[in-house]
Amino acid sequence: MRVVITGAGVVGLATAWQLASDGHRVTVLERREGPGLETSFANGGQLSYSYVAPLAGPGVLGKVPGWLLRRDAPLRWHPRLDPAQWRWLAGFMRACNGTASDDTTRKLLRLAFHSRDRMQALLAQRSIDFDFARRGKLIVHRDAASFDAARRLLDYQAQLGSEQQALDRDACIALEPALAALGERIAGAVHTPSEEVGDCHRFCRALAGLLAAHPDVTLRFGATVRGIAHAGGRVRGVETGDDFVEADAVVVAGGIGSAALLRPLGLRPPLWPLKGYSITVPVTSGAGAPHISVTDFARKIVYARIGHTVRVAGMADLTGSPTRPDPRPDPERAGTLLTETRQVFPGLADGHALHDLQPWAGLRPATPSGLPLIGESRMPGLWLNIGHGGLGFTLAMGSASLLADTMAGRRPAVHATDYAATLA
Ligand SMILES: Cc1cc2nc3c(=O)[nH]c(=O)nc-3n(C[C@H](O)[C@H](O)[C@H](O)COP(=O)(O)OP(=O)(O)OC[C@H]3O[C@@H](n4cnc5c(N)ncnc54)[C@H](O)[C@@H]3O)c2cc1C
Repeated sequence: MRVVITGAGVVGLATAWQLASDGHRVTVLERREGPGLETSFANGGQLSYSYVAPLAGPGVLGKVPGWLLRRDAPLRWHPRLDPAQWRWLAGFMRACNGTASDDTTRKLLRLAFHSRDRMQALLAQRSIDFDFARRGKLIVHRDAASFDAARRLLDYQAQLGSEQQALDRDACIALEPALAALGERIAGAVHTPSEEVGDCHRFCRALAGLLAAHPDVTLRFGATVRGIAHAGGRVRGVETGDDFVEADAVVVAGGIGSAALLRPLGLRPPLWPLKGYSITVPVTSGAGAPHISVTDFARKIVYARIGHTVRVAGMADLTGSPTRPDPRPDPERAGTLLTETRQVFPGLADGHALHDLQPWAGLRPATPSGLPLIGESRMPGLWLNIGHGGLGFTLAMGSASLLADTMAGRRPAVHATDYAATLA
């Protein structure tokens, strides 16, 4: 089949790789000048295959009022007179109840495990360099109640196949001495030894390199898809500003940009841009820098050692709208990341000003529950691979494989209906 893929972020590129491996003729159209320049650019770098706790969890709603009052809160919300925003928030609140959150966790874990398998298959087959490393991950809790809740989730995730253990404060610092400064403020941590990290942008560039060398793949940058053409009730191709690209199937994998593209077709996937931030701190002496990935659970900030840097990422600002996303960075939010880094790992960021640390903002394409939408939409021939929220790097390879299996009529490794894009 001739397949057009909209978007060369990590999800679109992984999809292109999978579909080209299946023998399809693939054209990837990307509006930016290169691969992975939007949300896939400077994310947290974590391949969180075993710890996928969705943002919508049972403890979150109780914290929201306090967060709304603090300028440095991990989650910020700018209320709008927009029914779509309220619908998204209502969906988010429904997803926060214990049963719904457990169900989301189970589905995310299945897809994440599958993703890890597909990533391992790719790395066994091709030699690509994106600062990939298996460093393990520590989720550090600052209060006893949240540590207890994490232990309960850990039991649940263990039944589903995750290998994790709870550590007390001393064991946690013994494992990652760079956490010593937090000392008494650590209530405990969850350790997942198998978790991996990598540079998502370099991964995108590596995938684009493999695709560029593939005889059945065309990559076009600076090519904005303006509309999806259909006739007789099925997709026929896409319009760019310059030409029409005919296709038997179109896969929309445009991250948050997907909403504007789908709207004229009457498709309104439940996506909202959740703006997040990162800074990238060079590790000059090694002193004070963590080796293991660390998540500060209370602050919702991740610290990942990627090559000779520590990527610090976090914050979730519910801002803009799906069809008018607002990518502008707020220097205050990136500044909060620097302040937190100085407190958690003193020494690491000393002597650096914010502008030295490549402050960056990206828009997570978030669904209320945290589950992506993968599969054929209501319009025959139009496929979606969207809504990966804060886990797109982790889930990209598995999502691509699920989409390719469904397209080929093969039985996928995970239940396709759990992520069905017909909801859009
Ligand atoms: C602060 C932060 C930290 C994160 N940390 C992690 C992490 O540690 N681990 C993890 O797994 N995930 C993480 N994520 C989430 C992850 O980055 C995203 O889920 C992922 O990048 C989404 O990939 P995507 O390909 O769907 O979207 P994008 O990377 O945004 O790619 C979509 C592409 O489509 C293009 N496009 C859109 N519309 C059009 C159009 N009409 N025509 C042509 N091209 C178009 C865009 O230009 C873009 O390049 C983080 C996100 C943020 C913001």
